[in-house]
Amino acid sequence: MPDYGHPLEFGTFLTPSAQDPDRVVGLAELTEAAGLDLATFQDHPYNSDFLDTWTLLSWVASRTERLRVSGNVINLPLRPPAVLARAAASLDRLSKGRFELGLGAGGFWDAIHAMGGGRRTPGESVDALSEAIDLIRATWDTDSRGGVRTRGEHYSAHGMKRGPEPAHDIGIWLGAYKPRMLRLVGAKADGWLPSLGYVQVEDLPGLNGVIDDSAHENGRDPRQIRRLLNLSGAAFTPVGRGFLQGPPEQWVEQLLPLALENGVSTFILGTDDPRTIETYGREVAPALREAVDRERAGAGTPTGPVRPAAALAARSPGIDYDAVPTALRDSAVEPGDKGYTKVRHGYMQQGRPGLVLRPTDPDQVAEALAYALEQDAPLNVRSGGHGISGRSTNDGGVVLDLGRMNGIEVLDAESGRVRLGVGARWGDVGSALHRHGLAISSGDHGGVGVGGIATTGGLGYMSRAHGLTIDRLTAAELVTADGSVLRVDAEHHPDLFWAVRGAGANFGVVTSVEAVASPVRDVVLGQFVYDASDTEGFLQAWGTVAEAAPREVTAFLAAGPGRGGQGPTAQAMVVYAGEDTDAAVRALEPFLQVGPVLDQRAQVTPYPAVLVGHGGPHGGSRTPVSRSALLEHITPDAARTMARMLNTGDTYFMQLRQVGGAVNDIAPDATAYAHRSANFSLAAMGSRAALLDRRWAELGEAARGLYLSFDTRTGPEVLSEAFPEPTLGRLRELKAKYDPDHVFDQNFPVTPAPGA
Ligand SMILES: Cc1cc2nc3c(=O)[nH]c(=O)nc-3n(C[C@H](O)[C@H](O)[C@H](O)COP(=O)(O)OP(=O)(O)OC[C@H]3O[C@@H](n4cnc5c(N)ncnc54)[C@H](O)[C@@H]3O)c2cc1C
Repeated sequence: MPDYGHPLEFGTFLTPSAQDPDRVVGLAELTEAAGLDLATFQDHPYNSDFLDTWTLLSWVASRTERLRVSGNVINLPLRPPAVLARAAASLDRLSKGRFELGLGAGGFWDAIHAMGGGRRTPGESVDALSEAIDLIRATWDTDSRGGVRTRGEHYSAHGMKRGPEPAHDIGIWLGAYKPRMLRLVGAKADGWLPSLGYVQVEDLPGLNGVIDDSAHENGRDPRQIRRLLNLSGAAFTPVGRGFLQGPPEQWVEQLLPLALENGVSTFILGTDDPRTIETYGREVAPALREAVDRERAGAGTPTGPVRPAAALAARSPGIDYDAVPTALRDSAVEPGDKGYTKVRHGYMQQGRPGLVLRPTDPDQVAEALAYALEQDAPLNVRSGGHGISGRSTNDGGVVLDLGRMNGIEVLDAESGRVRLGVGARWGDVGSALHRHGLAISSGDHGGVGVGGIATTGGLGYMSRAHGLTIDRLTAAELVTADGSVLRVDAEHHPDLFWAVRGAGANFGVVTSVEAVASPVRDVVLGQFVYDASDTEGFLQAWGTVAEAAPREVTAFLAAGPGRGGQGPTAQAMVVYAGEDTDAAVRALEPFLQVGPVLDQRAQVTPYPAVLVGHGGPHGGSRTPVSRSALLEHITPDAARTMARMLNTGDTYFMQLRQVGGAVNDIAPDATAYAHRSANFSLAAMGSRAALLDRRWAELGEAARGLYLSFDTRTGPEVLSEAFPEPTLGRLRELKAKYDPDHVFDQNFPVTPAPGA
């Protein structure tokens, strides 16, 4: 396999002379302007005539936009690997993924010793480099948990923190000539970076062979290792005089066999001459690329990224990875990919999907959906990944992750019209709208996705003043099971628009929604902590006060069982949706009478500041057992049951949220969320389903349906509680029309009406 099929790259090898720093930087800028890919600099920290390479790399990166930079090669003995790893990752982040790590074992030991570095034998140098590579990769591996612990001959770490994470997979390219170093390249490196002169062209096949054998021995594909080559002493001359001494066409002719027969794919030209750089970039690089592409096409040489054997073994058998649509390929993530850990789990559920597709527009969603339906693997849809009832991950299947469709547009600040991508998180929506004096009531958590809430309800801190989130929607765009991209609103597919607002996950992949935000900038937030030892009495009083509050007020209460012999405590977040502090104080005061207050505060605060948490990557947790009930009032029986739940420990976390007010101004048949007479949403989490279910049965008549987003029972037995008739019947008719094959069955699946 002399041609490893890597895309060709071209770079310069510039002298980092301290005499004329502007000239060095200018040559690097010219490298970019000439269309080349890479600027590299030697690293001899003991040479006082040279600029420090790291500082120069950073400077050049900041002065260029596209150019990648690397040491050629970085001197390991004078640069501790853990520090080196952080510097590399930092520069990679600052330059948006434009740093590569050319690395060398050392040499010039007297000079290194003069600077305080230790001397190493050739054998020790290789061992040290090998240990350093492990430590550097461990530092970059932010997907793994815990600190880095290694005990090596040369380098150790004792619980070192990982990170920062590089912006891209930084290539580690080793300058290597001797067999042990070459074997290390085969075992661990991403690239081999020798200089012509130190090696001869005729040596390349044998040296490549050592690397390839070592790669095989270490379970790697030799194509995982890019072959780079430093070229020196070259010049453009009108008449050909020898190797790389002639016109550009002759260079192309002479470099072509190096690419096709010796596997070289990165040609780095050692020169400080501007005209040579120009000609190399403008004439040699494009012509050689073209010639290599032509030859490869003729020979059928495989090109494209090579997956490590371990990553291939982690693939799911039911997924045809070669068939991933081209538009989605670059952003797709599968096991073994960098960043897989960040997309595999949901907030609640852990998962191990075989493929995560990350479309950026509705057409890509349609393509992703069509592809996913061809696979013999489960499909899940994810917006923010906070699903409790609906799973947004799976094991071995395909996940459609809409996180990149996260646009937040204010279409008209005056009327409050906004368009939201479903992948946006409500915390970001809150902040973006706040700048226009607008807000949409969503929920209590800033990390929850627009998609999950906009398709189910949205019980938020301003529900009583401004309704559910879905009550603010004026349109939605969705991709249906047959791949159609539909805009649904009062005029277009009104039946689907009705269904999306409450049962959206049954009918397609919603890609964006339009809504009318309310003119809200700041709110008054009261935070109270109560001794709820008299749990039953406290809950009943709470219910009475909350219901009597003006509809600007929406009150959320959270409680857990008592600890250390103490009774339960309860925390309240009471939001007054307005800036009239006198009215807010009058509205909040009664909440101080509900029970013994342990702590209290009230403040005027921007609405987005009320939302906790933000939308970082999810680590998943134990799949919860969660139950929901909607209550009209906190009756004595309901309060007793809730108190029992808490005092027995059947629930470890209970939430009582207010709905009502504006939510109940909407007719029950106006949206697929039909619960328009409830004043409270009760949700509880427990460790054992049976215990929680017993308490739920005790709620009896007090429970009038459930809010599906808070219940982990999603089967037919609870369907009519989520969608009371006639809503359920209507949904079943629509299911038969739009999704008869049950493509979208991941969150409270509705069965299609028979014969419809
Ligand atoms: C910490 C936390 C706090 C919460 N607070 C509140 C709250 O205050 N008020 C409230 O109402 N809810 C709240 N919830 C519940 C939340 O609304 C739901 O779990 C919601 O589904 C999460 O939305 P998501 O986009 O993050 O979910 P995801 O996990 O991405 O999706 C969940 C389900 O919705 C479906 N879905 C997601 N996106 C789409 C889409 N674009 N098109 C079609 N179907 C889709 C998926 O099929 C999936 O089954 C909270 C949840 C958590 C974990």
